[in-house]
Amino acid sequence: MPKTYDTIIIGAGIAGATLAHTLSKQNQKVLVVDKNGIASGGSGAAGAFVSPKIGKGSALQSLTNEAFVYAKDFYLRTCPEHFHQTGVIRTPKDEVDAKKFFEYEKYNENSYEWYSKEKLQTLGIEAGFDSFYFPEAGDCNAPQVCAYLLRDIEVQIAEVLEMKQKNGQWKLLLPTSYFLTHNVILATGYKSTLADLRYMGIRGTWGTRGDYRSKLDLPVSIHQAMSVGANVNGIIKLGATHEKGVKAPIPCNTKMVEALKENASSLVNTSDLELQKIFCGMRAGSKDYFPLVGRVINVPYMLETYPAVVRGAKPALEYVDNLYVLNGLGGRGFVFAPLMAEILTKHITEDKEIDKRVNPDRLFLKWCRKFML
Ligand SMILES: Cc1cc2nc3c(=O)[nH]c(=O)nc-3n(C[C@H](O)[C@H](O)[C@H](O)COP(=O)(O)OP(=O)(O)OC[C@H]3O[C@@H](n4cnc5c(N)ncnc54)[C@H](O)[C@@H]3O)c2cc1C
Repeated sequence: MPKTYDTIIIGAGIAGATLAHTLSKQNQKVLVVDKNGIASGGSGAAGAFVSPKIGKGSALQSLTNEAFVYAKDFYLRTCPEHFHQTGVIRTPKDEVDAKKFFEYEKYNENSYEWYSKEKLQTLGIEAGFDSFYFPEAGDCNAPQVCAYLLRDIEVQIAEVLEMKQKNGQWKLLLPTSYFLTHNVILATGYKSTLADLRYMGIRGTWGTRGDYRSKLDLPVSIHQAMSVGANVNGIIKLGATHEKGVKAPIPCNTKMVEALKENASSLVNTSDLELQKIFCGMRAGSKDYFPLVGRVINVPYMLETYPAVVRGAKPALEYVDNLYVLNGLGGRGFVFAPLMAEILTKHITEDKEIDKRVNPDRLFLKWCRKFML
């Protein structure tokens, strides 16, 4: 007999792992399935810095900073051994950027200090401009956090090939077996082929990280166009995710991380950095950079039943029963995942409304008008 679950989560990255953790706390019987194993997608490559967003007070900045507060408390409470609260310096990249920092200051919702160039020099940081220091920020050991959150949860390493729904139950087909479940959650990252999610506009951005062995005394992390991690146990992480338009994973290569090291040399002394390991991966973002959390609209049904949606009609939305998504976490998966998992868990277990800012419904009608005419 196949096993039956309350919820099967597809994807064991930080989205799937935090969600499995929060759902199981609500006594849900959860299975996580990943085709390549825990943190084998973008989450395994991530520098996993957890820091606030700066800017002029946009809606995305407010949400990110709410999520930041939630995330650092979550990691400190749940797995403090895998979260290093080293503080993060956010430093301007040029003179124009430096001027903007003064405008940004009043929108800093999280605790911060100005660090002068001179103060930064005492920390071994060669920044050309006064910078923000966020003492509550830090970084995670990405794979260890995912594995820790999943330590009491059943995990299957296999690809979900197909999903079928019958009599209020989902049947998930794997290469050599199948499972039955009430709910399915797609936490599948940049490549989501199991349901019609086109309206969510999920797309990948490629990134690289190099872990370098070093004796450099660097007590804080630094963000500029790239991230330089604090020295934790003799390792300094260098990372960036900027390459859009990369359609499929490409092999990691030394050239990419050496370029990061070159950039880092304008911030810290990189002379003793010795490359230990290269990581690379794809992170999944949405069209408007907000996360995607909630139910999945039944796209074929909507287009067939209400053809006028493509000309601006606004009929009531019809959903695929018991199918959910947690995706689009962008370059801040480790910041967003704990709060987004909490929002989806409350929706599934308590029927609490999904925060409109992250509900993928926001994208559907616009997508119909723009792409289906
Ligand atoms: C180089 C790099 C640096 C980054 N740095 C940071 C950072 O400093 N801070 C930060 O917060 N974020 C960072 N990010 C972003 C962060 O990694 C992502 O936001 C995060 O990984 C998203 O997690 P996820 O669980 O949604 O996706 P993923 O981690 O990609 O997980 C999706 C999983 O779904 C599985 N899957 C897909 N389809 C199927 C299927 N049909 N059957 C079974 N399994 C399936 C995949 O195997 C994969 O493991 C970085 C990303 C990269 C690449």
